[in-house]
Amino acid sequence: MSTFQNLGLNDDLLQAINDLGFSTPSEVQEKAIPVLLHADTDLVALAQTGTGKTAAFGFPMLQKINVDSRTTQGLILSPTRELCLQITNEMKLYGKYCKGLNVVAIYGGASITEQARDVKRGAQIIVATPGRMKDMISRNLVDISKIEYSVLDEADEMLNMGFKEDITDILSHTPKDKNTWLFSATMPSEVASIAKHFMHQPQEITVGNKNESTNQVSHEYYLVNSRDRYLTLKRLADANPDIFSVVFCRTKRDTQKVAEKLIEDGYNAGALHGDLSQNQRDLVMKAFRNNQIQMLVATDVAARGIDVEDITHVINYQLPDEIETYTHRSGRTGRAGKTGVSMVIVSKSEVRKIKSIERIIKKQFERKTIPNGMEICEVQLMSLANKVHNTEVNHDIDNYLGKINTLFSDTTKDELIKKFFSVEFTRFYNYYQKTPDLNTIESSGSDDKDRGDSTRYFINVGKKDGFDWMSLKDFLREILELGKEDVFKVETKDSFSFFNTENAVKDKVLNFFTDFKYNGRFVNVEVSENRGNSKRRDRKRNGSNRNFKQNDSKNRTERRSTSGKSKPRRSKSNDFAASRPRRSRR
Ligand code: AMP
Repeated sequence: MSTFQNLGLNDDLLQAINDLGFSTPSEVQEKAIPVLLHADTDLVALAQTGTGKTAAFGFPMLQKINVDSRTTQGLILSPTRELCLQITNEMKLYGKYCKGLNVVAIYGGASITEQARDVKRGAQIIVATPGRMKDMISRNLVDISKIEYSVLDEADEMLNMGFKEDITDILSHTPKDKNTWLFSATMPSEVASIAKHFMHQPQEITVGNKNESTNQVSHEYYLVNSRDRYLTLKRLADANPDIFSVVFCRTKRDTQKVAEKLIEDGYNAGALHGDLSQNQRDLVMKAFRNNQIQMLVATDVAARGIDVEDITHVINYQLPDEIETYTHRSGRTGRAGKTGVSMVIVSKSEVRKIKSIERIIKKQFERKTIPNGMEICEVQLMSLANKVHNTEVNHDIDNYLGKINTLFSDTTKDELIKKFFSVEFTRFYNYYQKTPDLNTIESSGSDDKDRGDSTRYFINVGKKDGFDWMSLKDFLREILELGKEDVFKVETKDSFSFFNTENAVKDKVLNFFTDFKYNGRFVNVEVSENRGNSKRRDRKRNGSNRNFKQNDSKNRTERRSTSGKSKPRRSKSNDFAASRPRRSRR
């Protein structure tokens, strides 16, 4: 087994390693450190976060630079502010016995003047995010013309975030004969092309499985009439009560307009685009980071470099002009090992672009049906029921229990439940009960076979139990012993889901789930109030497509309360609008 000593590290570093309590080198360190220490070479290392890669490039860089000089000799580029600060911190710890060492972090959202001052004091190593670095180069605040070692850390993430041009520009200010060390979790073609362009016969090391993908994003699209984009956006948000999303628009004007409409309609939304001042942008990003904003409506340029984890959905309100930009958008979700969904609202004239995107991302899109009003009401109701169920009791309420009990002394448990949920549910119900189907005729979910009368079920397992629509479908087919096509319209939500079967097997399904346990808990299946066949039903009710449009324009005038908590107010159309309570995800 190798030790840090026999990798060739000097005493200053070994002492720091000892202080840090690192007993043995990790795999990436074992493979990279001797190569980087003993040869002047370029390197491509395929390694995930958490494998000790910072030390793998950090130790050799610290050992090779001249700390007696004030010249900047090492440049580390990283995709996000968090990572930039983390690397800086680690480098300082590793180099704590390297007398005279100065490592400076350069990243957006903090004072550029202070960062420039820190660099001027003589930073041998700069750790930077590409956007701010480029900015400082263009203002002559840094000199990287004598760089000897450059690191591209999490290169796949940087390219995903749209930093390719910035990286190219930054590297053009560095000497040609420097060594470049590229670290990436995956090796998509864009990373391979960077390696080819900027590196000279790089050595390659791999830790773990080379083809292991960190990409956890599923892609879906919704086919609508262009004029229904906004209504569709609202439905997608309402059908996902815990959404935490970036909504991409093509222009600054659309971005501002959509954000304003969402705010008027009571959603926790904010706009991010180039017409806002830096201060305004910082405030929006702060609110988004703190989860006070659930829907950040943004242009591609402004959203570049958004380094917020936990984004559950990316919504393409409009497709980007450049198809390649789609990768950068969808890369905002599904990060840090989490799953994410990238949704595209697409009109008939644009639908062919989906095929082109599929070719570029090498993944299939799923065609999805826009949920109808009653489906959304059910989702909202069950989401609320789950929240209530999981809420920790506040025992200060005990003091008022007597009064409350007196008030409800004549109310049965069922009535009380109905009243309690009606407070919230009625607003959604009133808003959605008469809304039309927004799907264009061609639209149908991939799982949406038109097959006569079927039964739609509610089931109390969902994403939290590890299911997505495909795995739940397979699971149901298997336990119910049904055929490949017998379970359809499967929709998974966080803690519950919906699915359909033919009416003929309804009794079999319901009987099976009378005492079925999964992971130690009873699985409950009930017939859902809506059948998930909105298209057919709405068409019949409205008579013709033209009627849909008349209804639509009526609904488009509907406004939701901005106060968040207030009662539904009347819109000009005389319909009640559902007000959406403002929520913080925390
Ligand atoms: P990284 O992959 O560079 O983000 O490192 C992940 C974490 O592992 C950091 O907190 C490092 O301090 C720690 N680490 C790095 N190398 C070692 C090692 N050889 N032994 C124990 N911990 C390590």
